[in-house]
Parts: sequence; structure tokens; C-alpha cells
Amino acid sequence: GDADLHAEVLVLGSGPGGYTAAFRAADLGKQVVMVERHERIGGVCLNVGCIPSKALLHTAQIINEAEEMSHHGVKFNKPQIDIRELESWKSSVVNQLTGGLKALAKTRKVTIVQGEGSFTSPNTLKVEGPDGEKTISFDNCIIAAGSRVTKIPVFPNDDPRMMDSTDALELEDVPEKLLVIGGGIIGLEMATVYDALGSKITVVELQDSLIPGADKDIVKPLFKRVQEKYDNIYLNTKVSNIEPKDDGLLVTFEGKDAPEQTMFDKILVAVGRSPNGKLINAEAAGVMVTDHGFIETDGQMRTNVPHIFAIGDIVGQPMLAHKATHEGKVAAEVIAGQKSVFEPMTIPSVAYTDPEVAWMGMNEDEAKKQGIDYVKGAFPWAASGRSLSLGRDEGLTKALFEKETGRLIGAGIVGPNAGELIAEAVLALEMGADAEDIGLTIHPHPTLSETLGFAAEMAEGSITDLM
Ligand code: FAD
Repeated sequence: GDADLHAEVLVLGSGPGGYTAAFRAADLGKQVVMVERHERIGGVCLNVGCIPSKALLHTAQIINEAEEMSHHGVKFNKPQIDIRELESWKSSVVNQLTGGLKALAKTRKVTIVQGEGSFTSPNTLKVEGPDGEKTISFDNCIIAAGSRVTKIPVFPNDDPRMMDSTDALELEDVPEKLLVIGGGIIGLEMATVYDALGSKITVVELQDSLIPGADKDIVKPLFKRVQEKYDNIYLNTKVSNIEPKDDGLLVTFEGKDAPEQTMFDKILVAVGRSPNGKLINAEAAGVMVTDHGFIETDGQMRTNVPHIFAIGDIVGQPMLAHKATHEGKVAAEVIAGQKSVFEPMTIPSVAYTDPEVAWMGMNEDEAKKQGIDYVKGAFPWAASGRSLSLGRDEGLTKALFEKETGRLIGAGIVGPNAGELIAEAVLALEMGADAEDIGLTIHPHPTLSETLGFAAEMAEGSITDLM
């Protein structure tokens, strides 16, 4: 045909979904082309998401811990922060990973084409890149074009003092007064970073809780801690106007707990992400896109067009990297003729705040709403020797078990390292473990991991009196 290049498998987008799918398809013997508009591959997660945020959050954790040591008889001087050096260290972490990915693509003979891709037919994609325009034909396609920051049109988004998560990760300066709009995972993670660097933080959230979606009991300890640290947290509050002034941004709030107006030096808008479904000319391929920009798939990640698949943020919630990678594997395997299917029992979520908040499966409100008869175990970390030895006692490990079968149906953990600890609960749920299985599993002492065992024992009734 007229194509400049042909792919057995064309992958659109090089984020965690895209590169995982591309690598898996190549490993299964397919000839793969991956299209990415940016010079650097790795998508949002690697370049402006998971990885740079975790690099900065590690820095924040060290700063916070050093400060806390002053209550344990060890005093450090106030940290001297060289924002340029910190920024360049963070970039070096990102560069190392995206460079590594490029090398992995090369060993697998995955061809990377740089440029903006849009469909021109059910079997061709046009790519406009730095070296002009190319048409790539394909047998199968995997759409992994991800999502972008959601903007609120009435805000003065062009003002340089307005930031989205990408801007906030590019450390420029440390604003004295920072407003974070959105009390979800991304907003709170960036608040954690800027608080540690020295900003005075205000968080405003439309709903009645931070991290709506997580179990209320595990959000409470985080709320308590940030309430002490931050200037203000306004729940049930809307930002109705932002007016740029010479000496700051004048914000108008609507909500009974917030003042009517306050000035801030900078504002981070973290109100969610929008899928890129409407930006790839999917109609030309006959692929259906919802009003919100999502692409629907079946359990094998197939769109309504049988040889075109979609994965990652563009197919729906939760918009998380580990969901994208697992979906990517399934799509590649199905294309290679394997009988794979994406049907996880649960997908864990983690807020890498201080303390971390992690959860999976059902939370207690959901169990109640669905009329499920459950028993719960909630183990306070104040009774964990390991937690106390860290100088922290606010953590909680909570687990829900179905009464009839005893099986684990949900768990939530708050405290340092909760994100690492939740993985055991995910495995337990996937394996159909019950409270006795978890309780009888010998966890090393003294560790934070014991708390899941104790929560299970509490649910079983084999330990009741804690303190
Ligand atoms: P993306 O990573 O969005 O990649 C899509 C790629 O496609 C991009 O590189 C884009 O440039 C490219 N693309 C799009 N359209 C075109 C086109 N037309 N032509 C060519 N290329 C195109 N998730 C976690 O699991 N853990 C975390 O800790 C975490 N932290 C985050 C922190 C922040 C600040 C943000 C913003 C997100 C975070 N996420 C985290 C979410 C995570 O980044 C996403 O879920 C993940 O990147 C989705 O992967 P994806 O492959 O679907 O798409």
C-alpha cells in the first residue's frame, strides 16, 4: 500500500501501558512499532507522574524525619534546600529510567516512531513528527494514549503562578503560600512535597473528605496529621474564582468553613485527569469513544473494532500505572493468540503522603451499601512495637472479611510504608485467603507487616484486648 512502514502490532503511546504491551508483543514474536509524540518514552508515569513525584516525596520524608528526630534527642540543623540541585537529581532519576526503557526497546527490536498519531482508517495511522509525516499500516493496534490534566476553564490557567501537577513537579521555587485545589492523591502528594520544602499549604476539596474513595477510618490519621501541619484544609468547599493580582492570586471560596477570599503566591490545580480518546481521530478507525473521552473494551482489552485494542488510563478508572501494565500484557497476549483476560479481583490504590494511605477491595461503606455481612479487624499501630520505634503511632491496619466464608474482601492501611504493606492483602484476596489463613501466617517480628496478621486475628476473635 501507500504506507511508509508496516507493523504487525502498532502501539499508540509509550506510557506504562504502551511500553509493557509493546515489549510483551515483541517477546511473543511480533514485529512492533511504538508511536510516541514526545522524544522521551515512558509516558506520564515515568516523566511527569509516579516516578518524579516519588523521588521528591522521598526527599520530603527525609526532611520530615530529620525534624521529628528533635523529639527523640537528635537535633539536625534546618535543611538548606538547593532547589536546582534537587530538581536536577529528580531529572536524573527520570532520565535513567527512560534511557533504560529505550535500551530495552532496542534489544527487543521495537521500532519507536516519534510524532503525534491519528487514525486515518481502521488499518492506518498518520504520524506527524519532527521528521515530517509518516503513514504506518498495521494488522493489530493497541491504543495506549493515556490521559491529561483536567483544566478548569474559568481559572486564569495561563498565569505563570497557576500550576498543574507537571508544573509542580518541575521545581522552580518554593512559594510561601500555596493553595492546592483538590484533596485527592495527586494534590496531597504534591502538598506533602511543598510542605516539606517550606511552603505554607492550604488544601481545598469539594467533597466532605480528603481522598474520597478510601475508607474513612484510614483517611482520618492522615487528616489529623496534615491538619496540624498545614495552614488550612477546607472540605465541602469550592473555589469559585481566582483573580490574578500583582502580589498574588486572589481566591474566592464558597463553603461555610472557608473565608470568603484569601491571597496565595501559587496555586496547584489537581482536580483529576481526562482521557485522550477524543484526540486521536478514533472515528476514522471506527473505534467508539464515550462522551468523556474513554474507549470501552471487553475483558480481553478489545475495542468495538476486533483488531484494535485499548489499555490504561484511556479505558477507565482507576487511572493507575499498575492497571495499565497488566492490561497491556493482556492485549499483547491476546493478539499473539493466547487466552489471556484482564480480570483482577482488585486493584490497589496508594497515596504516598505522610503517612501513606493504601487500600484495596471493598471499603466499609461499600460493604454496608452492598448489604454484605462482614466482620472487621482494625489494628491500631499504637500497639505495634515497630511503629513506636519509628516514632509514629497514628497508623491503622483494617481488614474486612465476609462473615459466611471468612474470606478477605477489603483492606485499608494508613501509616509509614502502607503502600508496600498493602501488597500482601492484595495477594491474600486474589488467593481467596480467609482471616485464619492470614492470622496463622507467621509474619516477622517486629515489622509493620505483622499488623495485617493482627487485624485478621482480631476479626477472628482470637485476639480482642489490645492495650
Ligand atoms: P500515559 O502514561 O498517559 O502515556 C500515554 C502516552 O501516550 C504519553 O506519553 C503521550 O505523550 C502519548 N500519546 C498520547 N496521545 C498520543 C498521540 N496522539 N500520538 C502520540 N503519542 C501520544 N499511578 C500509579 O500507579 N502510581 C503513582 O504513584 C502515580 N503517581 C502519579 C503522579 C502524578 C503527578 C500523575 C499525573 C499521575 C500518577 N499516576 C500514578 C498515574 C499514572 O501516571 C497513569 O495511570 C499512567 O501513566 C497511565 O499509563 P498509560 O500507559 O495509560 O498512559
